[in-house]
Amino acid sequence: MKIQLLPSTFDQHGCASQEQRLTCFVIDDRVAVDAGSIALGLSEAQHESVRDVIVTHPHMDHMATLPIFIDDHFALLTEPVRVHATDEVVALLERDVFNWTVYPRFSQLKNEHCFVMEYIPFRPREEFRVAHLTVTAVPVNHIVPTVGLVVSDGRTTVAFSSDTAATEDFWEVVNERPDISALFIESSFPNSMGKLAEVSGHLTPEGVAAELRKLSHNHLDVLAVHLKPSYRETLVRELDALGISGLSAMEAGRAYEW
Ligand SMILES: [Zn+2]
Ligand SMILES: [Zn+2]
Repeated sequence: MKIQLLPSTFDQHGCASQEQRLTCFVIDDRVAVDAGSIALGLSEAQHESVRDVIVTHPHMDHMATLPIFIDDHFALLTEPVRVHATDEVVALLERDVFNWTVYPRFSQLKNEHCFVMEYIPFRPREEFRVAHLTVTAVPVNHIVPTVGLVVSDGRTTVAFSSDTAATEDFWEVVNERPDISALFIESSFPNSMGKLAEVSGHLTPEGVAAELRKLSHNHLDVLAVHLKPSYRETLVRELDALGISGLSAMEAGRAYEW
């Protein structure tokens, strides 16, 4: 399984910046997990191959360029862009984003081939298919309805915490899996900002360490993501200082394989 964290921005030489303002992972060039930078960070080939997007929650940094991505491809789509999300999240996207004011309601619009966007709702804790993947979503502890994901291609299984403060059910589901190769866990604020992390539904490196103690798997890669750009250096230092083997800050733009 190949997974990339798409860059949010590029420097003047076209190199991916490590500052992560937007969240979008791409799995096997086919499926996006969140869509913050989907219109900005995909390769040309991925622009043609990604047609499934799982949206974990409706915060701007997780869906910012989804409308732009659909707009970019509007005339040429031969199948809809399928947006997989809980009913709650679909309702929020329809109310607040695709509402004819912020952007058109693409779920009601067709080009000459097909509807350009289709919602495919899923229920938490019930396995569902997305392209070649099976996915289980589990509600996590954020300030809006949000799910973490366990994703498998039949050989490799990985887990995404999405945005969350301390949580329980997600780890229960992760621990039920015999083998997890990689975990993508958020680490938004430095340890000195624990209070803010808690009220905004996020984790600090110390919080990450506490969550990892709930995990019964050893020997997996743990990639810290969602590091707020203003605190990135401090966060990387504090994550290193935890001394947890296999834990590192995920590099934007790099293709990881498991
Ligand atoms: Zn969020
Ligand atoms: Zn976020």
